Amino acid sequence: MAYLTLRKLKKTYGATVAVEDFDLSVEAGEFVALLGPSGCGKTTTLRMIAGFVPPTSGEIWIRGADVTALPAHRRNVGLVFQNYALFPHMTVRANIEFGLNAHHVDSAQADERVRSVLALVGLSSHEDRFPRELSGGQQQRVALARVLALKPDLLLFDEPLSNLDAKLRVQMRQEIRRLQREVGVTALFVTHDQEEAMTMADRIVVLDRGRIAQVGSPAEIYDRPQTRFVADFIGISNFFEGAPFPAAGRSLFRCTSGLEIGILPENAPGAAGVLAVRPEKIEFVSADAPHSLPGIIRQAMQLGSTMEYLIELGSGDRVIVHEQKRPRVTIRQTGEQVRITWHPADSVFLQS
Ligand code: ADP
Repeated sequence: MAYLTLRKLKKTYGATVAVEDFDLSVEAGEFVALLGPSGCGKTTTLRMIAGFVPPTSGEIWIRGADVTALPAHRRNVGLVFQNYALFPHMTVRANIEFGLNAHHVDSAQADERVRSVLALVGLSSHEDRFPRELSGGQQQRVALARVLALKPDLLLFDEPLSNLDAKLRVQMRQEIRRLQREVGVTALFVTHDQEEAMTMADRIVVLDRGRIAQVGSPAEIYDRPQTRFVADFIGISNFFEGAPFPAAGRSLFRCTSGLEIGILPENAPGAAGVLAVRPEKIEFVSADAPHSLPGIIRQAMQLGSTMEYLIELGSGDRVIVHEQKRPRVTIRQTGEQVRITWHPADSVFLQS
């Protein structure tokens, strides 16, 4: 059995369905991100696992035990919030000891645990400081140390990095992953930030209006989205609506605009749908390249290391193309006539 199992978990508030049909298995030591826009049910799911919100129906199993009806304090689950929730009038050491005392850990062992978690988060020399004497990143590390000192079976993070500035957030992503790996604790991480989920998680659960839209590794979610919602929410996609079209010697997809796109035969199930193509999969090619599409650059935007071009095709379709700014790659100008193409395998077919 998996380390954490959620079975048909559901939560309704009156007529509002916050979470529905939520099935998930998490293995020991895994780091799983719950990702989705605001209101999709991430926090409700996390709170049900923590024991703060009773599910309307469904089951929660941790380490082979059904904990659905257990109160929060008997689940041995640690929570890390965005606002740290440190006691401002207590030193770092006292903040960590507080939880250990509440759990009746004897003082010799508590002392040892405080020392070891402070070393783990690199704050051994700060144990006598008060929270106001620490940076945001250090406060977040104390919050994490305090939870880890209790040796939880499961670590739950609720948007823990939202209060930090952009640069520190990126550092803390690595830091949290390092600590989680070192301790070997199983973790669930709620975020609305796709980059956070992509860079941190072993697996991502994408939620759409209370339901799981897709579960997979960051690469699976990005390269093989299963729904239009996932393809749209994670990164940028170009969408072409239409249907596969039988043609001699070549599999084609005919868009409602009349545009014809080459696809792999196995990517053409016959029904109407949507093709999703990532902007970085599209290349500029010369006029004699076979099956290329002519267009005109309507907008050229600097994205730092990448250029983003908005191209209007002859069919009227608008396509976003990303091109790395590499040596010998010329930057194109608005109004320039171009031809583009992409490999048929890079078109992902989605049922509409
Ligand atoms: P997320 O964390 O993804 O932003 P939530 O889990 O907070 O989403 O909310 C999911 C849905 O449930 C939303 O429509 C929200 O308004 C509703 N909801 C959450 N908590 C409550 C509550 N205590 N009472 C009523 N509705 C709630």
